[in-house]
Amino acid sequence: MKAKYDLIVIGGGPGGYEGAIRAAQLGLYTALIEKDNLGGTCLNRGCIPTKTIMHTSRLYREARNFTEIGLSAAEVKFDMAKIQQRKKEVVTKLQSGIAQLLKANKVDVYQGKGMVLAPGKVQVTGEAETFELEAEKILIATGAIPARPPIAGLDLPGVFTSDDLLDSPQAEKVYNPLVIIGGGVIGVELASIYSDLGCAVTVIEALPRILPAMDREISQNLSMILKKRGVKIHTAAMVSRITEENGLLQVEFTEKEKLQTAAGDAVLVAIGRRPQTEGLFASGLNPRTEKGFLVVDEFYQTDIPGVYAAGDVIGGIQLAHAASAEALRAVEIIAGKESSRDKLLIPGCVYTDPEIATVGLTEEEAKAAGYAVKIGKCIMSANGKSLLENLDRGFIKLVFAADTEVLLGAHLMCGRATDLISELATAIKQKMTATQLAATVRPHPTFSEAITEAVESIHGQAIHIIPGRKN
Ligand SMILES: Cc1cc2nc3c(=O)[nH]c(=O)nc-3n(C[C@H](O)[C@H](O)[C@H](O)COP(=O)(O)OP(=O)(O)OC[C@H]3O[C@@H](n4cnc5c(N)ncnc54)[C@H](O)[C@@H]3O)c2cc1C
Repeated sequence: MKAKYDLIVIGGGPGGYEGAIRAAQLGLYTALIEKDNLGGTCLNRGCIPTKTIMHTSRLYREARNFTEIGLSAAEVKFDMAKIQQRKKEVVTKLQSGIAQLLKANKVDVYQGKGMVLAPGKVQVTGEAETFELEAEKILIATGAIPARPPIAGLDLPGVFTSDDLLDSPQAEKVYNPLVIIGGGVIGVELASIYSDLGCAVTVIEALPRILPAMDREISQNLSMILKKRGVKIHTAAMVSRITEENGLLQVEFTEKEKLQTAAGDAVLVAIGRRPQTEGLFASGLNPRTEKGFLVVDEFYQTDIPGVYAAGDVIGGIQLAHAASAEALRAVEIIAGKESSRDKLLIPGCVYTDPEIATVGLTEEEAKAAGYAVKIGKCIMSANGKSLLENLDRGFIKLVFAADTEVLLGAHLMCGRATDLISELATAIKQKMTATQLAATVRPHPTFSEAITEAVESIHGQAIHIIPGRKN
């Protein structure tokens, strides 16, 4: 089989499939190669599986506390096999939607492993046959896979990655107690799921706080909330080895120079993700990489002519919407619609309860960048919607440039934070000022009212914040 395309996309995750559809919309004759299931990490073992399971685990925790809101129910139980079955149904439905979209947009989909043989030439190794495809341009969107640090004992049975707990037969078992190595987004989301299901969870993080890349107060608040729910959190703690004793895995770590052990029925290793580039280039083709991630220029082009890359495989912010946005830009550049890579503003979200979402600069980053800042803040205990929904502590914190009052960053820990953040991302992108943000009338009762309060607080005009009280 031999066909000449305008564009071949390797990888069918959010970067790859969305890039392929946009390419087709722009009139490019496009092929997509995927070695596994359409939807990539996000759909099969990332965003959608975690959030589907979380939906159930959160309800289960809430049901256990029903009496707080005037409800009672006979013993509420969960069934992990059924939770996983529902997750599969959600995933399958979305997968078939992607397949339909690709077909409707006339993107040819090839099942197999893609390898770049030369500029414009890709080999596809499928189950039954190996063949070559040709194209003017190639877009690599092969994503990333869990990193496995060099810790002794990592190959013991029961030591898992997020892939194992979300997309394998092992996922149907409940692990209690569970030890999680890594307090980043994946670590804290899985800690939430398991603790909501009533399991004893220990999180061990090497850096001084969980969610180390986020606003300090967010880390502190989440830490308090998780601890209140029974999660043990060790920070500035280095894991040295994992052993097996009396049927339990023992994770040895050093915290404050003291050797400690946490025992688990299973251990989740969530310490980062590395680019998926094995076997992606024929020998002799060695594109420039940094820590294994493909290096691209301002046009998303690698140093192999005509070979572009986007998404997790180029590093940076490893999120589905970042992968999609990058791939769309890359394809628009390839199609001649965009002249260069636009600076993308990517919100970061954590789907804990309450949710966390941030965009733009933190207070520390803004100061380090030379800004004098004004901080607008609303504590969610002053927000009616938050109280009536019985949500835990939270806040909305806005970082403004002191002189112009232009919004530089937004840091939310509240109900629906992951939806609210888009309004603030738009405001940052449009360089909106506090006065412009305050001019919008936000409905009552909503979490979004707290945005108005946080904005008005910089002028001492927040209605529901006691004057003179420092937030
Ligand atoms: C547990 C977990 C939870 C997450 N939750 C969220 C979330 O809530 N929100 C969010 O925004 N992000 C989340 N992410 C991150 C998100 O999943 C990734 O950022 C996103 O999937 C990256 O998209 P991508 O297209 O770059 O790569 P991927 O989604 O990894 O897709 C790459 C695809 O390429 C295929 N492939 C690789 N090599 C080849 C080859 N040689 N030939 C053919 N095909 C190949 C792979 O099989 C895969 O399907 C989560 C990740 C994890 C692990």
